[in-house]
Parts: sequence; structure tokens; C-alpha cells
Amino acid sequence: MTQQRMVILEELRNVDSHPSADEVYAMVRKRLPRVSLGTIYRNLEILSKSGEIRRIDSGGNLKRFDGNADDHYHIRCLRCDRLVDAFIELGLDIDEQLKGATDFLVFGHRLEFVGLCPRCQPATAEPSSLTNEEPS
Ligand code: ZN
Ligand code: MN
Repeated sequence: MTQQRMVILEELRNVDSHPSADEVYAMVRKRLPRVSLGTIYRNLEILSKSGEIRRIDSGGNLKRFDGNADDHYHIRCLRCDRLVDAFIELGLDIDEQLKGATDFLVFGHRLEFVGLCPRCQPATAEPSSLTNEEPS
């Protein structure tokens, strides 16, 4: 592994903010001032493909990267796009369940929770007040 790739991996593993490639670039540049954005992109792809990091591209507009490659879910803030770990167990094998429900060859699933982070919640954070529906 090149020194650049090692630094990218270390920086990613030090945060749980799920940074974009641009944000990883800013982090790595503090340690390697001459690194290029292209090098960051290339190494993020290599690390994702080898399973050492995870690329998160469901939902939001921006690809994010996660230094925690273990299986876990995320919740995304619909207002500020913040992405936070959601460590829950579903308690049942949903991939297995789907095998009986379609003729697809099932490789896995993508599940992302959405909501409002604490900073974006209005003073009264009743979910019903955030939709167009009349409270019952
Ligand atoms: Zn937010
Ligand atoms: Mn995560």
C-alpha cells in the first residue's frame, strides 16, 4: 500500500462524519500538502473495491465514504444532508426473505433512514407538524 493510500485510510477511520471525496482531500492535504484530488479519487475507488472502506451513494447527491467497512445502516438529515451511523439490528434476514418473494438473484440490500438531525429540528419536532397532513 502506498503512503498516500495509508494516510487516506487513516484519516477516514478517524472520523464518523462520512466525508465526500472533496472533504477527504481537505483532510489528507493537511498531512500531504502535495496530494492531488485525482489521487484522492483514485485511492478512494481502490479502497472501496478492496472492501477496506465503504462507498455510500444511495439517497443524497454526493458520494460519501465510510472508514467503517462493517455492515451498518445510516440515517440522513433531509435538510442538511448530514449522514450519521444508525447501529441497529433488523433481527431477521431480509435478503433471505426476498428470495422467496421474487425470481431475482439477490445480492443484498440498500437501506437508508431519513429524518431531521438535532440541529435541523424545529422547536416542536412532532413529525405530524413537518408534513402537510392534518394532525388526527
Ligand atoms: Zn440536519
Ligand atoms: Mn457509517
